Amino acid sequence: MPQVLSMGELLVEVMRPGVDEPLDRQGTFVGPFPSGAPAIFIDAVARLGVSCGFVGVVGDDPFGRCVLNRLTRDGVDVRHVRLVSHRTTGIAFVAYRSDGSRQFVFHLPQSAAALLSPDDVRKEYLEGVRALHITGSALAISDSAREACYRAVRLCKQRGGMVSFDPNVRPELLGVEAVQALCEPVLASCDVLLPSGAEATMLSGDTDEETACQKLVASGIPIVVLKRGAQGCSVFTDQLRAEVPAYPVNEVDPTGAGDAFAGGFVVALLRGMSVQEAARFASAVGAMAVTRQGPMEGLPTLSQLESFLCSR
Ligand code: ATP
Ligand code: MG
Repeated sequence: MPQVLSMGELLVEVMRPGVDEPLDRQGTFVGPFPSGAPAIFIDAVARLGVSCGFVGVVGDDPFGRCVLNRLTRDGVDVRHVRLVSHRTTGIAFVAYRSDGSRQFVFHLPQSAAALLSPDDVRKEYLEGVRALHITGSALAISDSAREACYRAVRLCKQRGGMVSFDPNVRPELLGVEAVQALCEPVLASCDVLLPSGAEATMLSGDTDEETACQKLVASGIPIVVLKRGAQGCSVFTDQLRAEVPAYPVNEVDPTGAGDAFAGGFVVALLRGMSVQEAARFASAVGAMAVTRQGPMEGLPTLSQLESFLCSR
């Protein structure tokens, strides 16, 4: 039985090879790359050698096989991923701007991923789970996907497992209040929260990232890790506030860094590391993830991570 579980959207990403090639013009694309925030997370965990599984839905099509083959190759248990023939696998089209921002077109709410439902979350499957990772993106795919996530959180907590939460919902699509309402049940049960600055301020209602994170800890979340891309991260607990610098690397593709980081952080906590040690371990996973094009392509195995850390 898997020790770590994640759930939600499995999709492929198709992206522009260069920068400033917007999606409303003709041009070339590269891909499909296996993707989906919770999928990147679980692939990171698997590559680091921890037993893990995924709960989700894909279309019975080449894109679905692309994602499932990758997860399977890396050791993720996909027996609880449902295959459907009446909907296609989710797709994200991505273009990079020279200012570092990204443009997306998603085929997701109408994709197979949106069919995830509480029935897909089997009690027996959560029996041995030590950590469950939830992403805001999965909460936002559909009502049934959100209910599936809430159910998994309840089952995991009842069994004494830990819940990590990356609130990566896009408020420009839903509005801040709707996002806060979606996240609230997971926030109330999570042990580790991994927001970006904008996500932390949106969740707490503060304008300052630092105050926002302190408030989130004061509200009862044991560990809050504020992710700041190449600027590193900050860890907050009720005992501690620490800066962990990023490892300098050549960034090729930033997509998925946060999910890779979260996978590293959870693995490190399960290995018994302190919060600060876990943040350093996770930073190395995040740094390695951005050195390759494609969200999962740079994810390290444990031995690749150890060589990276030795070379620093
Ligand atoms: P995404 O939503 O694209 O997955 P995110 O915004 O959730 O990303 P980031 O803050 O971009 O997450 O990245 C998470 C962590 O990964 C950072 O805190 C840092 O440790 C590491 N990281 C990200 N980008 C870089 C980079 N360019 N160089 C080194 N480390 C990086
Ligand atoms: Mg993110």
